[in-house]
Amino acid sequence: MAAYDYETHEYDVVVIGAGGAGLRATLGMAEQGLRTACVTKVFPTRSHTVAAQGGIAASLGNMGPDSWQWHMYDTVKGSDWLGDTDAMEYLAREAPKAVYELEHYGVPFSRTEEGKIYQRPFGGHTTEYGEGPPVQRTCAAADRTGHAILHTLYGQSLKNNAEFYIEYFAIDLIMSEDGQCQGVLCWKLDDGTLHLFNAKMTVLATGGYGRAYFSATSAHTCTGDGGGMVARAGLALQDMEFVQFHPTGIYGSGCLITEGARGEGGYLTNSEGERFMERYAPTYKDLASRDVVSRCMTMEIREGRGVGAEGDHIHLHLNHLPPETLAERLPGISESARIFAGVDLTKEPIPVLPTVHYNMGGVPTNYWGEVLAPTKDKPDNVAPGLMAVGEAGCASVHGANRLGSNSLIDLVVFGRAAAIRAGQIVDPKTPNPELNQRSVDMALARFDGLRHARGQVGTAELRLEMQKTMQADAAVFRTDKTLAEGKDKMDDVASKMDDIAVTDNSLVWNSDLMETLELANLMPNAVATITAAEARKESRGAHAHEDYPNRDDENWRKHSLVWFTGKNGAAKLDYRGVHLEPLSSHNEGGIDLKKIAPKARVY
Ligand SMILES: Cc1cc2nc3c(=O)[nH]c(=O)nc-3n(C[C@H](O)[C@H](O)[C@H](O)COP(=O)(O)OP(=O)(O)OC[C@H]3O[C@@H](n4cnc5c(N)ncnc54)[C@H](O)[C@@H]3O)c2cc1C
Repeated sequence: MAAYDYETHEYDVVVIGAGGAGLRATLGMAEQGLRTACVTKVFPTRSHTVAAQGGIAASLGNMGPDSWQWHMYDTVKGSDWLGDTDAMEYLAREAPKAVYELEHYGVPFSRTEEGKIYQRPFGGHTTEYGEGPPVQRTCAAADRTGHAILHTLYGQSLKNNAEFYIEYFAIDLIMSEDGQCQGVLCWKLDDGTLHLFNAKMTVLATGGYGRAYFSATSAHTCTGDGGGMVARAGLALQDMEFVQFHPTGIYGSGCLITEGARGEGGYLTNSEGERFMERYAPTYKDLASRDVVSRCMTMEIREGRGVGAEGDHIHLHLNHLPPETLAERLPGISESARIFAGVDLTKEPIPVLPTVHYNMGGVPTNYWGEVLAPTKDKPDNVAPGLMAVGEAGCASVHGANRLGSNSLIDLVVFGRAAAIRAGQIVDPKTPNPELNQRSVDMALARFDGLRHARGQVGTAELRLEMQKTMQADAAVFRTDKTLAEGKDKMDDVASKMDDIAVTDNSLVWNSDLMETLELANLMPNAVATITAAEARKESRGAHAHEDYPNRDDENWRKHSLVWFTGKNGAAKLDYRGVHLEPLSSHNEGGIDLKKIAPKARVY
C-alpha cells in the first residue's frame, strides 16, 4: 500500500453532511459553544435539500383548526403503524417550535393575508384523527422551501462560528475496539490531501440513497454514504425495504413535480380522461398518501389505461388553475415542466410516473438522534459517539411510508434534538479520544485498494446493473418471485465490487475514484433493501407484496435490521420491536393510545 500522510483535526463534534439535517445539527452544536466542524462533499447549499419544493409540516393552525395530536395521528397512520410512537410524538410536538425557530433565523416563508406563515394541504394530512377534512399544515416558501431553509441555516451556522470543510469526502468512520465512534477519515477532493477528524461526537447527516435506483428524483450525490460507512463499522441498517415512490416524477427525466401541485388543486387522469383517484380513495382522492397514489397509478397503467404512445404513464392536470396561482405558488415546477417535459402547464397536462423519492429506512436511532447498536437483550442499546439525523437516519418517524412535508420537519426537529443531546453528553473540557490506529489503517487500506483497483468491471457499468436490478425487482409492486430473483441478482452484482476497475489513480479531482467510493456505499444499501424486502411476508406502506396483500400486525409489526457481519461480509437479518409507548399519556395532555391503535389504512 502507498504511504499516506494525513492532517489530524480535533473537534468536540464533527457533522458529516450540510443538508437541512446537517446544518440544523451544526448550528445547534455551535450555538452551545461546542467546537463544531461540518464536512461536506458538495457546497452546503447544493445539498439535495435545496430541491425540496412543497414545504414543511407543523400544526401551526394558521389556515384553520389543527393540533399536534392530529399531526401525530396522521404520521402514525401514514407510517402504516411501523413508526416508533415516542419519536412520532416528539416530531409532531416539537414541529411548531422548530418552524418558528426557522422563521426567526430568517426563512422567508410565504404569507397569508394577515401576515402569518402560509400553509398548504398535503397528502395524508387531516383533522379529527383522520375523520375530518384535509388540513392546511404544510408551511411553504413558494415551491422553493428547501432552498430557503438551506440558505438560512448555512448563514446562521457561519454566524455561530461553525467551521466548514467543503468538498471533503468522508471515507470511513474511525471506531475504537469496543465500538465507540472516534471520528472520520476524509479526502479533500480539490488537492488530494487526507484529513482525520478526531471528535467526541460524530453526526451522520449524509442523506438518502435514491441513486441505488435507475429513476430517482434525488440528486446524483444521494449515494447513501452514511449507510455504507455504518455497514462497514459493523452496525445495523433498519427498515431498508421501505422505499417511497413519489407519484409525480416527470416521465423520462424523473425530475420531481411537488405534491404541492395536487395540494393546490391538481389532479391525475388516465387514458380515458377519468379522474381515477376518486374510485380508489373516495374521501381524499388525489391527496391520499403517496404509496397509495403510486400504487393506483401503477394499477391503471397495468390495466391498459396509461397515457402516451406506449400507454406507460399518467397525466397531471394543473391547466384548470388560474395562471396567477401557478405563477405565485408553483413557479419552480412551471419551469421544470417546460424544461423537462416541454409542457406549458397553464395549457396542457404534465406526463408523470411514480419515481423513487425517499428512503424511510436508514441508520437506527432513538429520538435524540443517538445511533442504536441493538442486541437481543438490549434493543435500544446506544453506540457511543455516533449520531444520525435526516434521511440517513431512521428514528423511526416515517415507518413504512413517509407523509409529504414530514421530511423537512424531521431534518430540523431531529437536527435540533441531536444538538440538545450533544450539549448534555459532550464535555468540551475533557480531552479527545485517543484514535484507534488499527481502524485508521483499515480505512486507509480500503481507500488505497479502490484507488488502485484494476479489475474487469467499470464503475459506471456496475452501477447501471445495480440500478436496473433494483428498479425492476424492488419496485412499487413486489412478488416472492421478483424479490427472490432480485436478491440473488443483487448478491451477484455486489460481489463484482471485488472485480472493479478504477482507471485514474490520481488524488486531485478524481471523479472516477469518488464515484467508485459512492458505488461501494450504494451497494450495501441496495443489498439491505432487497434482503429485508424479500423476507417481509406482508404488505405495509411502501412495501406492496402481491403474494401477501394484507398487513400482518401479529407477525410483522417490527423493524428489520440488516448487518454485513456474516461470512465474507454477507448480509444478516434480524428484527427489533416497534416502540408502542408514547412520551406522555392522555392524562398529561398527550395522546390517547386508543386513538392511534392500528386499523385498516384507508383514505
Ligand atoms: C426533489 C425533492 C423534493 C423534495 N421535497 C420535499 C418537500 O417539499 N418536503 C419534505 O418534507 N421533503 C421533501 N423531500 C425530501 C427531503 O428533501 C429530503 O429527505 C431531505 O432534504 C434530506 O436532507 P438531509 O439533510 O438528510 O440530506 P441531503 O440534503 O441530501 O444532504 C446530504 C449531505 O451530506 C453530504 N454528504 C453525503 N455523503 C458525504 C460524504 N461521503 N462525505 C461528505 N459529505 C457527504 C452532502 O454533501 C450533503 O451536504 C424532497 C426530496 C427531493 C429529492
